[in-house]
Amino acid sequence: MRRQRSIFITARRIKPTAMSHSPHPSRLAIALGRRFTRRLARQSVCQGLLSRPVRGLVSAALLSLCMPIASAQNALPSLGDRISGTVSLEQEFAIGQQFLASVRRGAPTIPDPLLNNYLENVTYKLASRSQLQDHRLSFVIIDSEELNAFAAPGGIIGVNTGLFLNAHTEAEFASVMAHEISHVSQRHFARGIDEAQAGRVPQMAGLLASVIVMATSDAGHGAAALAAAQGRSLENQLRFSRSNEAEADRIGQDTMFNAGFDPEGMSSLFERLIAINRFGRRPPEFLLSHPVTESRISDARSREFRYPERLYQEDLEYQIVRARVVGHYAEDKDALVSEMRRALTNSTSTFTRDANRYGLAVALYEAGNYAGASAALSPLLSKEPNRISYVVTQAEILTKQNEPGQAREYLTRHLQINPNNHALTTAYAEALIAARNYSEAAEVLQRHAVLRPDDHHLWAMLAETQGQAGNISEVHQARAEYFRLLGDFRNARQQLQFALRIEVDQGAGAAVEARLRERINTLEDQQRALQG
Ligand SMILES: [Zn+2]
Repeated sequence: MRRQRSIFITARRIKPTAMSHSPHPSRLAIALGRRFTRRLARQSVCQGLLSRPVRGLVSAALLSLCMPIASAQNALPSLGDRISGTVSLEQEFAIGQQFLASVRRGAPTIPDPLLNNYLENVTYKLASRSQLQDHRLSFVIIDSEELNAFAAPGGIIGVNTGLFLNAHTEAEFASVMAHEISHVSQRHFARGIDEAQAGRVPQMAGLLASVIVMATSDAGHGAAALAAAQGRSLENQLRFSRSNEAEADRIGQDTMFNAGFDPEGMSSLFERLIAINRFGRRPPEFLLSHPVTESRISDARSREFRYPERLYQEDLEYQIVRARVVGHYAEDKDALVSEMRRALTNSTSTFTRDANRYGLAVALYEAGNYAGASAALSPLLSKEPNRISYVVTQAEILTKQNEPGQAREYLTRHLQINPNNHALTTAYAEALIAARNYSEAAEVLQRHAVLRPDDHHLWAMLAETQGQAGNISEVHQARAEYFRLLGDFRNARQQLQFALRIEVDQGAGAAVEARLRERINTLEDQQRALQG
Protein backbone atom coordinates (compact mmCIF):
# COMPACT_ATOMS: atom_id res chain seq x y z
CA MET A 1 0.00 0.00 0.00
CA ARG A 2 1.23 3.47 -0.78
CA ARG A 3 2.02 5.56 2.22
CA GLN A 4 0.46 8.97 2.10
CA ARG A 5 0.64 11.61 4.64
CA SER A 6 -2.89 12.26 5.67
CA ILE A 7 -4.42 15.69 5.47
CA PHE A 8 -4.59 15.44 9.22
CA ILE A 9 -1.58 16.87 10.90
CA THR A 10 0.08 13.80 12.31
CA ALA A 11 0.40 13.37 16.01
CA ARG A 12 3.77 13.59 17.60
CA ARG A 13 4.20 11.41 20.58
CA ILE A 14 6.98 11.63 23.07
CA LYS A 15 8.03 8.31 24.50
CA PRO A 16 8.50 8.54 28.26
CA THR A 17 11.21 5.88 28.23
CA ALA A 18 13.32 7.81 25.75
CA MET A 19 13.73 10.47 28.29
CA SER A 20 13.83 8.89 31.67
CA HIS A 21 16.79 6.76 30.65
CA SER A 22 18.70 9.41 28.79
CA PRO A 23 21.97 10.03 30.51
CA HIS A 24 22.41 13.51 29.18
CA PRO A 25 19.79 16.09 28.35
CA SER A 26 21.25 17.06 24.98
CA ARG A 27 20.74 13.52 23.62
CA LEU A 28 17.02 13.96 23.99
CA ALA A 29 16.68 16.18 21.01
CA ILE A 30 17.36 13.19 18.80
CA ALA A 31 14.38 11.30 20.12
CA LEU A 32 12.18 14.21 19.20
CA GLY A 33 12.51 13.46 15.51
CA ARG A 34 10.41 10.36 15.93
CA ARG A 35 6.89 10.79 14.89
CA PHE A 36 3.96 8.92 16.13
CA THR A 37 2.76 6.55 13.45
CA ARG A 38 -0.90 6.18 13.05
CA ARG A 39 -2.47 2.79 12.71
CA LEU A 40 -3.63 2.26 9.17
CA ALA A 41 -7.32 2.13 8.72
CA ARG A 42 -8.55 -1.32 7.90
CA GLN A 43 -11.61 -0.57 5.87
CA SER A 44 -12.38 1.48 2.87
CA VAL A 45 -14.83 4.27 3.38
CA CYS A 46 -15.73 3.77 -0.26
CA GLN A 47 -17.60 0.61 0.61
CA GLY A 48 -20.15 2.95 2.03
CA LEU A 49 -21.05 3.49 5.59
CA LEU A 50 -24.21 1.45 5.58
CA SER A 51 -22.50 -1.66 4.31
CA ARG A 52 -19.80 -1.39 6.90
CA PRO A 53 -20.23 -4.08 9.50
CA VAL A 54 -20.20 -2.48 12.84
CA ARG A 55 -17.77 -4.20 15.08
CA GLY A 56 -18.37 -5.19 18.67
CA LEU A 57 -17.07 -2.10 20.29
CA VAL A 58 -19.32 0.13 18.31
CA SER A 59 -21.94 -1.68 20.19
CA ALA A 60 -20.42 -0.56 23.39
CA ALA A 61 -20.53 2.73 21.64
CA LEU A 62 -22.82 5.63 21.39
CA LEU A 63 -24.72 4.75 24.40
CA SER A 64 -22.48 3.04 26.78
CA LEU A 65 -20.01 5.54 25.53
CA CYS A 66 -21.10 7.90 28.05
CA MET A 67 -19.00 7.40 31.07
CA PRO A 68 -21.03 4.93 33.01
CA ILE A 69 -21.84 5.88 36.45
CA ALA A 70 -25.01 5.31 38.39
CA SER A 71 -26.01 1.79 39.24
CA ALA A 72 -29.21 0.74 37.55
CA GLN A 73 -30.41 -0.85 40.77
CA ASN A 74 -30.02 2.29 42.84
CA ALA A 75 -32.85 4.71 43.05
CA LEU A 76 -31.78 7.97 41.49
CA PRO A 77 -31.26 10.47 44.25
CA SER A 78 -32.80 13.84 43.69
CA LEU A 79 -30.56 16.82 43.18
CA GLY A 80 -29.78 18.31 46.52
CA ASP A 81 -27.22 18.91 49.18
CA ARG A 82 -26.03 15.32 49.18
CA ILE A 83 -24.27 15.94 45.87
CA SER A 84 -22.25 18.89 46.95
CA GLY A 85 -21.56 17.04 50.19
CA THR A 86 -20.25 13.88 48.52
CA VAL A 87 -18.43 15.01 45.41
CA SER A 88 -17.80 18.70 44.91
CA LEU A 89 -17.47 20.41 41.53
CA GLU A 90 -13.76 20.87 42.28
CA GLN A 91 -13.37 17.14 42.97
CA GLU A 92 -15.21 16.36 39.75
CA PHE A 93 -12.83 18.67 37.91
CA ALA A 94 -9.79 16.89 39.40
CA ILE A 95 -11.22 13.46 38.54
CA GLY A 96 -11.88 14.62 35.00
CA GLN A 97 -8.32 15.88 34.54
CA GLN A 98 -6.96 12.52 35.73
CA PHE A 99 -9.28 10.69 33.40
CA LEU A 100 -8.17 12.90 30.51
CA ALA A 101 -4.48 12.34 31.30
CA SER A 102 -5.04 8.56 31.17
CA VAL A 103 -6.76 8.84 27.79
CA ARG A 104 -3.93 11.03 26.44
CA ARG A 105 -1.37 8.49 27.66
CA GLY A 106 -3.10 5.47 26.24
CA ALA A 107 -5.09 6.31 23.13
CA PRO A 108 -3.99 7.66 19.74
CA THR A 109 -5.46 11.15 19.60
CA ILE A 110 -6.00 13.42 16.60
CA PRO A 111 -4.33 16.81 16.69
CA ASP A 112 -5.92 18.14 13.44
CA PRO A 113 -6.78 21.71 14.49
CA LEU A 114 -9.75 21.97 12.11
CA LEU A 115 -11.38 18.93 13.71
CA ASN A 116 -10.57 20.08 17.21
CA ASN A 117 -11.79 23.61 16.52
CA TYR A 118 -15.01 22.22 15.11
CA LEU A 119 -15.66 19.99 18.12
CA GLU A 120 -14.89 22.86 20.50
CA ASN A 121 -17.19 25.28 18.65
CA VAL A 122 -20.17 22.93 18.48
CA THR A 123 -19.78 21.91 22.10
CA TYR A 124 -19.47 25.47 23.39
CA LYS A 125 -22.49 26.47 21.30
CA LEU A 126 -24.50 23.70 22.98
CA ALA A 127 -22.96 24.28 26.41
CA SER A 128 -23.94 27.96 26.36
CA ARG A 129 -27.60 26.87 26.08
CA SER A 130 -27.32 23.96 28.50
CA GLN A 131 -27.74 23.66 32.25
CA LEU A 132 -24.00 23.28 32.68
CA GLN A 133 -22.73 25.16 35.76
CA ASP A 134 -19.00 24.69 35.28
CA HIS A 135 -17.97 25.79 31.81
CA ARG A 136 -14.40 24.53 32.01
CA LEU A 137 -14.50 21.98 29.22
CA SER A 138 -11.70 19.83 27.86
CA PHE A 139 -11.78 17.96 24.58
CA VAL A 140 -10.15 14.95 23.05
CA ILE A 141 -10.57 13.28 19.65
CA ILE A 142 -9.50 9.66 19.43
CA ASP A 143 -8.22 8.20 16.18
CA SER A 144 -10.58 5.27 15.83
CA GLU A 145 -13.25 4.24 13.36
CA GLU A 146 -15.28 2.74 16.16
CA LEU A 147 -18.24 4.96 16.88
CA ASN A 148 -17.86 6.37 20.34
CA ALA A 149 -18.30 9.49 22.39
CA PHE A 150 -17.99 9.99 26.10
CA ALA A 151 -18.43 12.53 28.82
CA ALA A 152 -16.53 12.36 32.06
CA PRO A 153 -17.09 14.42 35.19
CA GLY A 154 -15.36 17.76 35.26
CA GLY A 155 -16.35 18.64 31.70
CA ILE A 156 -14.34 16.11 29.70
CA ILE A 157 -15.84 15.65 26.26
CA GLY A 158 -14.39 12.99 23.99
CA VAL A 159 -15.29 11.59 20.59
CA ASN A 160 -13.83 9.02 18.26
CA THR A 161 -13.33 10.03 14.64
CA GLY A 162 -15.84 7.22 14.01
CA LEU A 163 -18.58 9.58 15.19
CA PHE A 164 -17.85 11.83 12.20
CA LEU A 165 -18.14 8.82 9.88
CA ASN A 166 -21.47 7.70 11.30
CA ALA A 167 -23.16 11.06 11.84
CA HIS A 168 -24.08 12.27 8.35
CA THR A 169 -25.31 15.71 9.36
CA GLU A 170 -24.33 18.40 11.79
CA ALA A 171 -27.57 17.84 13.74
CA GLU A 172 -26.80 14.14 14.16
CA PHE A 173 -23.33 14.98 15.43
CA ALA A 174 -24.71 17.66 17.75
CA SER A 175 -27.28 15.23 19.17
CA VAL A 176 -24.50 13.05 20.59
CA MET A 177 -22.64 16.02 22.00
CA ALA A 178 -25.84 17.41 23.53
CA HIS A 179 -26.57 14.04 25.14
CA GLU A 180 -23.05 13.90 26.58
CA ILE A 181 -23.17 17.48 27.87
CA SER A 182 -26.42 16.60 29.64
CA HIS A 183 -24.73 13.77 31.54
CA VAL A 184 -22.19 16.35 32.75
CA SER A 185 -24.71 19.12 33.45
CA GLN A 186 -27.03 16.77 35.37
CA ARG A 187 -24.00 15.53 37.29
CA HIS A 188 -24.97 11.90 36.78
CA PHE A 189 -21.57 10.93 38.06
CA ALA A 190 -21.96 12.68 41.41
CA ARG A 191 -25.56 11.50 41.70
CA GLY A 192 -24.48 7.88 41.38
CA ILE A 193 -21.70 8.02 43.91
CA ASP A 194 -22.55 7.22 47.49
CA GLU A 195 -20.52 8.15 50.52
CA ALA A 196 -18.83 4.76 50.78
CA GLN A 197 -17.52 5.12 47.23
CA ALA A 198 -16.53 8.77 47.50
CA GLY A 199 -13.10 8.03 48.94
CA ARG A 200 -12.18 5.78 46.01
CA VAL A 201 -13.25 8.24 43.36
CA PRO A 202 -9.75 9.39 42.30
CA GLN A 203 -8.67 5.78 41.64
CA MET A 204 -11.79 5.17 39.57
CA ALA A 205 -10.86 7.79 36.99
CA GLY A 206 -7.82 5.87 35.76
CA LEU A 207 -9.63 2.55 35.60
CA LEU A 208 -12.57 3.97 33.71
CA ALA A 209 -10.21 5.65 31.25
CA SER A 210 -8.60 2.29 30.57
CA VAL A 211 -11.89 1.09 29.11
CA ILE A 212 -11.86 3.95 26.61
CA VAL A 213 -8.21 3.31 25.83
CA MET A 214 -8.73 -0.42 25.30
CA ALA A 215 -11.59 0.26 22.94
CA THR A 216 -9.25 2.19 20.67
CA SER A 217 -5.89 0.54 20.95
CA ASP A 218 -4.33 -2.70 19.84
CA ALA A 219 -3.16 -3.42 23.38
CA GLY A 220 -5.26 -6.53 23.83
CA HIS A 221 -3.05 -8.16 26.41
CA GLY A 222 -1.00 -7.68 29.53
CA ALA A 223 -1.33 -4.89 32.03
CA ALA A 224 -3.50 -2.74 29.76
CA ALA A 225 -6.04 -5.52 29.35
CA LEU A 226 -6.02 -6.24 33.07
CA ALA A 227 -6.65 -2.60 33.89
CA ALA A 228 -9.42 -2.53 31.30
CA ALA A 229 -11.00 -5.65 32.77
CA GLN A 230 -11.04 -3.99 36.18
CA GLY A 231 -12.36 -0.84 34.59
CA ARG A 232 -15.04 -2.81 32.77
CA SER A 233 -16.27 -4.35 36.02
CA LEU A 234 -16.31 -0.93 37.64
CA GLU A 235 -18.15 0.35 34.58
CA ASN A 236 -20.82 -2.30 35.09
CA GLN A 237 -21.19 -1.42 38.76
CA LEU A 238 -21.49 2.24 38.01
CA ARG A 239 -23.32 2.17 34.68
CA PHE A 240 -25.52 5.11 33.94
CA SER A 241 -29.04 4.16 34.78
CA ARG A 242 -31.82 3.93 32.25
CA SER A 243 -33.34 7.05 33.72
CA ASN A 244 -29.97 8.86 33.39
CA GLU A 245 -29.96 7.96 29.69
CA ALA A 246 -33.55 9.06 29.20
CA GLU A 247 -32.81 12.31 30.98
CA ALA A 248 -29.69 12.92 28.87
CA ASP A 249 -31.78 12.40 25.71
CA ARG A 250 -34.57 14.67 26.86
CA ILE A 251 -32.40 17.51 28.16
CA GLY A 252 -29.96 17.04 25.29
CA GLN A 253 -32.70 17.46 22.73
CA ASP A 254 -33.93 20.64 24.45
CA THR A 255 -30.36 21.92 24.42
CA MET A 256 -30.09 21.19 20.69
CA PHE A 257 -33.23 23.16 19.97
CA ASN A 258 -32.17 26.06 22.19
CA ALA A 259 -28.75 26.21 20.52
CA GLY A 260 -30.28 26.27 17.03
CA PHE A 261 -29.69 22.66 15.94
CA ASP A 262 -32.47 20.58 14.40
CA PRO A 263 -33.66 18.26 17.22
CA GLU A 264 -34.57 15.65 14.59
CA GLY A 265 -30.88 14.82 14.43
CA MET A 266 -31.23 12.66 17.52
CA SER A 267 -33.80 10.22 16.20
CA SER A 268 -32.28 10.09 12.72
CA LEU A 269 -28.89 9.09 14.19
CA PHE A 270 -30.50 6.47 16.44
CA GLU A 271 -32.34 5.05 13.44
CA ARG A 272 -29.18 4.84 11.39
CA LEU A 273 -27.33 3.09 14.21
CA ILE A 274 -30.06 0.53 14.64
CA ALA A 275 -30.18 -0.05 10.87
CA ILE A 276 -26.40 -0.52 10.75
CA ASN A 277 -26.50 -2.96 13.61
CA ARG A 278 -29.34 -4.93 12.10
CA PHE A 279 -27.01 -5.93 9.28
CA GLY A 280 -23.96 -6.35 11.48
CA ARG A 281 -22.34 -9.73 11.83
CA ARG A 282 -22.27 -9.56 15.61
CA PRO A 283 -25.27 -9.28 17.84
CA PRO A 284 -25.65 -5.66 18.78
CA GLU A 285 -24.46 -5.72 22.37
CA PHE A 286 -25.42 -2.19 23.03
CA LEU A 287 -29.01 -2.89 22.11
CA LEU A 288 -29.05 -5.78 24.57
CA SER A 289 -27.22 -4.18 27.46
CA HIS A 290 -28.13 -0.62 26.88
CA PRO A 291 -31.43 1.10 26.36
CA VAL A 292 -31.12 2.07 22.71
CA THR A 293 -34.48 0.80 21.77
CA GLU A 294 -37.30 1.57 19.42
CA SER A 295 -38.99 3.26 22.36
CA ARG A 296 -36.03 5.55 22.85
CA ILE A 297 -36.33 6.53 19.20
CA SER A 298 -40.06 7.06 19.46
CA ASP A 299 -39.55 9.20 22.57
CA ALA A 300 -37.15 11.40 20.62
CA ARG A 301 -39.56 11.50 17.65
CA SER A 302 -42.53 12.49 19.79
CA ARG A 303 -40.57 15.28 21.50
CA GLU A 304 -39.66 16.69 18.08
CA PHE A 305 -43.30 17.58 17.48
CA ARG A 306 -43.37 19.72 20.60
CA TYR A 307 -40.71 22.14 19.40
CA PRO A 308 -41.96 25.16 17.48
CA GLU A 309 -41.41 24.84 13.74
CA ARG A 310 -38.32 26.48 12.44
CA LEU A 311 -36.19 26.41 9.31
CA TYR A 312 -32.74 25.00 9.95
CA GLN A 313 -29.79 25.86 7.81
CA GLU A 314 -27.05 23.29 7.95
CA ASP A 315 -23.52 24.54 8.44
CA LEU A 316 -21.15 23.43 5.68
CA GLU A 317 -18.32 23.21 8.19
CA TYR A 318 -19.53 19.84 9.45
CA GLN A 319 -19.33 18.38 5.92
CA ILE A 320 -15.83 19.85 5.58
CA VAL A 321 -14.42 18.23 8.69
CA ARG A 322 -16.29 15.01 7.94
CA ALA A 323 -14.68 14.90 4.48
CA ARG A 324 -11.27 15.10 6.15
CA VAL A 325 -12.12 12.11 8.33
CA VAL A 326 -13.46 10.13 5.34
CA GLY A 327 -10.25 10.91 3.41
CA HIS A 328 -8.12 9.96 6.39
CA TYR A 329 -9.63 6.46 6.66
CA ALA A 330 -10.05 5.66 2.96
CA GLU A 331 -7.70 2.81 2.11
CA ASP A 332 -8.09 3.16 -1.63
CA LYS A 333 -7.55 6.86 -2.21
CA ASP A 334 -8.00 6.61 -5.99
CA ALA A 335 -11.37 4.94 -5.55
CA LEU A 336 -12.36 7.76 -3.22
CA VAL A 337 -11.39 10.29 -5.92
CA SER A 338 -13.66 8.51 -8.43
CA GLU A 339 -16.48 8.33 -5.92
CA MET A 340 -16.19 12.03 -5.08
CA ARG A 341 -16.13 12.97 -8.79
CA ARG A 342 -19.36 11.03 -9.28
CA ALA A 343 -20.91 12.59 -6.19
CA LEU A 344 -19.96 16.08 -7.41
CA THR A 345 -21.53 15.45 -10.82
CA ASN A 346 -24.73 14.20 -9.20
CA SER A 347 -25.01 17.03 -6.68
CA THR A 348 -28.47 18.53 -6.63
CA SER A 349 -27.99 21.60 -4.45
CA THR A 350 -25.40 24.27 -3.85
CA PHE A 351 -24.83 22.86 -0.38
CA THR A 352 -24.10 19.31 -1.55
CA ARG A 353 -22.07 20.61 -4.51
CA ASP A 354 -19.81 22.60 -2.18
CA ALA A 355 -19.52 19.71 0.26
CA ASN A 356 -18.67 17.24 -2.50
CA ARG A 357 -16.21 19.64 -4.11
CA TYR A 358 -14.34 19.90 -0.81
CA GLY A 359 -14.53 16.11 -0.49
CA LEU A 360 -12.95 15.80 -3.94
CA ALA A 361 -10.15 18.21 -2.97
CA VAL A 362 -9.39 16.12 0.11
CA ALA A 363 -9.51 12.85 -1.87
CA LEU A 364 -7.08 14.24 -4.46
CA TYR A 365 -4.79 15.50 -1.69
CA GLU A 366 -4.85 12.10 -0.02
CA ALA A 367 -4.10 10.48 -3.40
CA GLY A 368 -1.03 12.71 -3.74
CA ASN A 369 -2.47 14.79 -6.60
CA TYR A 370 -1.79 18.23 -5.14
CA ALA A 371 -2.33 20.20 -8.34
CA GLY A 372 -5.70 18.49 -8.73
CA ALA A 373 -6.57 19.21 -5.11
CA SER A 374 -5.75 22.88 -5.59
CA ALA A 375 -7.90 23.04 -8.75
CA ALA A 376 -10.83 21.37 -6.96
CA LEU A 377 -10.57 23.78 -4.05
CA SER A 378 -10.24 26.88 -6.21
CA PRO A 379 -13.97 27.57 -6.89
CA LEU A 380 -14.69 27.21 -3.17
CA LEU A 381 -11.96 29.69 -2.28
CA SER A 382 -13.26 32.15 -4.88
CA LYS A 383 -16.65 31.95 -3.23
CA GLU A 384 -15.44 32.21 0.37
CA PRO A 385 -11.82 33.39 0.37
CA ASN A 386 -11.73 33.78 4.15
CA ARG A 387 -13.23 30.48 5.28
CA ILE A 388 -10.52 29.21 7.59
CA SER A 389 -10.88 25.53 6.69
CA TYR A 390 -10.42 26.34 2.97
CA VAL A 391 -7.45 28.57 3.72
CA VAL A 392 -5.76 25.92 5.84
CA THR A 393 -6.39 23.26 3.19
CA GLN A 394 -4.87 25.51 0.51
CA ALA A 395 -1.84 26.10 2.75
CA GLU A 396 -1.48 22.35 3.32
CA ILE A 397 -1.51 21.84 -0.46
CA LEU A 398 1.09 24.58 -1.04
CA THR A 399 3.35 23.11 1.63
CA LYS A 400 3.02 19.69 -0.04
CA GLN A 401 3.90 21.26 -3.39
CA ASN A 402 7.20 22.44 -1.87
CA GLU A 403 5.99 26.02 -1.78
CA PRO A 404 6.16 26.70 1.96
CA GLY A 405 7.13 30.32 1.22
CA GLN A 406 3.87 30.86 -0.64
CA ALA A 407 1.96 29.06 2.11
CA ARG A 408 3.54 31.34 4.67
CA GLU A 409 2.74 34.52 2.79
CA TYR A 410 -0.83 33.39 2.22
CA LEU A 411 -1.31 32.46 5.90
CA THR A 412 0.24 35.74 7.08
CA ARG A 413 -2.58 37.61 5.34
CA HIS A 414 -5.20 35.41 6.97
CA LEU A 415 -3.62 35.60 10.42
CA GLN A 416 -4.03 39.36 10.17
CA ILE A 417 -7.78 38.80 9.80
CA ASN A 418 -7.94 36.05 12.44
CA PRO A 419 -5.00 36.55 14.77
CA ASN A 420 -4.09 33.55 16.94
CA ASN A 421 -6.55 31.24 15.22
CA HIS A 422 -5.45 27.74 16.16
CA ALA A 423 -5.72 26.10 12.74
CA LEU A 424 -4.11 29.03 10.89
CA THR A 425 -1.29 29.31 13.43
CA THR A 426 -0.52 25.60 13.30
CA ALA A 427 -0.51 25.61 9.49
CA TYR A 428 1.78 28.66 9.59
CA ALA A 429 4.21 26.84 11.90
CA GLU A 430 4.07 23.77 9.63
CA ALA A 431 5.00 25.95 6.65
CA LEU A 432 7.95 27.41 8.58
CA ILE A 433 9.07 23.91 9.57
CA ALA A 434 8.80 22.74 5.95
CA ALA A 435 11.05 25.69 5.01
CA ARG A 436 13.48 24.56 7.76
CA ASN A 437 12.95 27.85 9.53
CA TYR A 438 12.86 26.11 12.90
CA SER A 439 13.71 29.05 15.16
CA GLU A 440 10.85 31.17 13.90
CA ALA A 441 8.48 28.19 13.97
CA ALA A 442 9.45 27.60 17.60
CA GLU A 443 8.77 31.25 18.45
CA VAL A 444 5.34 31.08 16.82
CA LEU A 445 4.44 27.87 18.65
CA GLN A 446 5.82 29.16 21.96
CA ARG A 447 3.54 32.20 21.78
CA HIS A 448 0.61 30.01 20.74
CA ALA A 449 1.15 27.56 23.60
CA VAL A 450 0.59 30.41 26.06
CA LEU A 451 -2.94 30.68 24.65
CA ARG A 452 -3.54 26.91 24.67
CA PRO A 453 -1.63 25.70 27.71
CA ASP A 454 -3.58 22.44 27.93
CA ASP A 455 -3.04 21.29 24.35
CA HIS A 456 -0.64 18.36 24.67
CA HIS A 457 -0.23 18.04 20.90
CA LEU A 458 0.92 21.63 20.73
CA TRP A 459 3.56 21.11 23.46
CA ALA A 460 4.80 17.99 21.66
CA MET A 461 5.09 19.91 18.40
CA LEU A 462 6.86 22.75 20.20
CA ALA A 463 9.31 20.36 21.88
CA GLU A 464 10.14 18.78 18.55
CA THR A 465 10.58 22.15 16.86
CA GLN A 466 12.74 23.52 19.68
CA GLY A 467 14.90 20.42 19.24
CA GLN A 468 15.27 21.12 15.53
CA ALA A 469 16.12 24.73 16.37
CA GLY A 470 18.79 23.54 18.83
CA ASN A 471 17.19 25.15 21.90
CA ILE A 472 17.74 22.34 24.36
CA SER A 473 16.56 24.03 27.55
CA GLU A 474 13.33 24.96 25.77
CA VAL A 475 12.93 21.36 24.57
CA HIS A 476 12.88 20.23 28.19
CA GLN A 477 10.51 22.98 29.25
CA ALA A 478 8.02 22.08 26.51
CA ARG A 479 8.35 18.39 27.33
CA ALA A 480 7.63 19.18 30.98
CA GLU A 481 4.26 20.66 29.97
CA TYR A 482 3.56 17.68 27.73
CA PHE A 483 4.21 15.27 30.60
CA ARG A 484 2.11 17.41 32.95
CA LEU A 485 -0.86 16.91 30.62
CA LEU A 486 -0.22 13.17 30.54
CA GLY A 487 -0.34 13.18 34.33
CA ASP A 488 3.32 12.15 34.50
CA PHE A 489 4.47 14.69 37.05
CA ARG A 490 7.68 12.88 37.91
CA ASN A 491 8.96 13.17 34.35
CA ALA A 492 7.62 16.71 34.08
CA ARG A 493 9.68 17.84 37.08
CA GLN A 494 12.73 15.96 35.83
CA GLN A 495 12.49 17.81 32.50
CA LEU A 496 12.42 21.12 34.34
CA GLN A 497 15.45 20.04 36.39
CA PHE A 498 17.32 19.33 33.14
CA ALA A 499 16.35 22.77 31.83
CA LEU A 500 17.42 24.38 35.10
CA ARG A 501 20.82 22.67 34.96
CA ILE A 502 21.38 23.91 31.41
CA GLU A 503 20.38 27.46 32.31
CA VAL A 504 22.64 27.46 35.39
CA ASP A 505 25.58 26.14 33.30
CA GLN A 506 24.99 28.84 30.73
CA GLY A 507 24.70 31.54 33.37
CA ALA A 508 21.21 32.51 32.27
CA GLY A 509 20.67 34.65 35.34
CA ALA A 510 18.59 34.72 38.48
CA ALA A 511 15.29 35.57 36.82
CA VAL A 512 15.29 32.54 34.52
CA GLU A 513 16.34 30.24 37.35
CA ALA A 514 13.65 31.63 39.64
CA ARG A 515 11.01 31.12 36.96
CA LEU A 516 11.99 27.46 36.49
CA ARG A 517 12.09 26.78 40.25
CA GLU A 518 8.68 28.40 40.56
CA ARG A 519 7.32 26.15 37.78
CA ILE A 520 8.68 23.06 39.55
CA ASN A 521 6.87 24.12 42.73
CA THR A 522 3.67 24.77 40.81
CA LEU A 523 3.75 21.29 39.30
CA GLU A 524 4.25 19.78 42.76
CA ASP A 525 1.19 21.68 43.98
CA GLN A 526 -0.85 20.56 40.95
CA GLN A 527 0.13 16.96 41.49
CA ARG A 528 -0.98 17.13 45.11
CA ALA A 529 -4.26 18.80 44.17
CA LEU A 530 -5.08 16.22 41.48
CA GLN A 531 -3.91 13.12 43.26
CA GLY A 532 -5.14 14.11 46.67
ZN1 LIG B 1 -25.59 8.42 27.76
